Amino acid sequence: MNIVIFGPPGAGKGTQSNYIVKKYSLFQLSTGELLRKEINNNTDLGKKIESTISLGNLVSDEIVGKIINKYISNIKYKNHIIFDGYPRNLNQAKNLNYLLNKNDQKIDLVLKLTVSQETIKKRISERQSLENRSDDLEETAIKRIKTYEDNIKPVINFYKQSNLLKVIDGEGSIAKINAVISGLIDGIKGWL
Ligand code: AMP
Repeated sequence: MNIVIFGPPGAGKGTQSNYIVKKYSLFQLSTGELLRKEINNNTDLGKKIESTISLGNLVSDEIVGKIINKYISNIKYKNHIIFDGYPRNLNQAKNLNYLLNKNDQKIDLVLKLTVSQETIKKRISERQSLENRSDDLEETAIKRIKTYEDNIKPVINFYKQSNLLKVIDGEGSIAKINAVISGLIDGIKGWL
């Protein structure tokens, strides 16, 4: 089973992906994490994308496309990926279908976490004090929310059309959201 999870910054994508990965033995492909690693390791790519990320903008489709292709084409992860933070726009959604198709795979479930603006701001500011992510600083965080909203509508419509989209209320407790997601995954028959 391959799953896509998306939602605005602070919606709980990372937390929920972590949980799903453990419970269903999937691989968490978090493009944000992988990009941050490049920055922390001071690689050529890291230097190139640092300012884009700290401004709250999207890294180019080409760069993230190369990253996800590495995992999709690796037999080790075949049909066991949760895409956390990809796709972020329609072009990426189409590219994901293309790459999966090329590697004889598909998406089985798309989870969209919804949360209010208030909750987003509260969670991001809590995370900033815990993790000290430079892109969680208030000004950048606001930009990231806007970037998300500007790009995500066509992605939502894209997955609605293919009947894969499940919208989840991300306001409840972590355990409650875990349970809702488990129910959806367990409801997909013969996925292993
Ligand atoms: P995240 O950890 O998912 O919130 O991502 C952190 C930042 O990494 C985003 O604000 C973007 O700058 C960049 N990023 C992550 N995933 C993507 C993607 N699929 N396309 C473009 N940029 C991305």
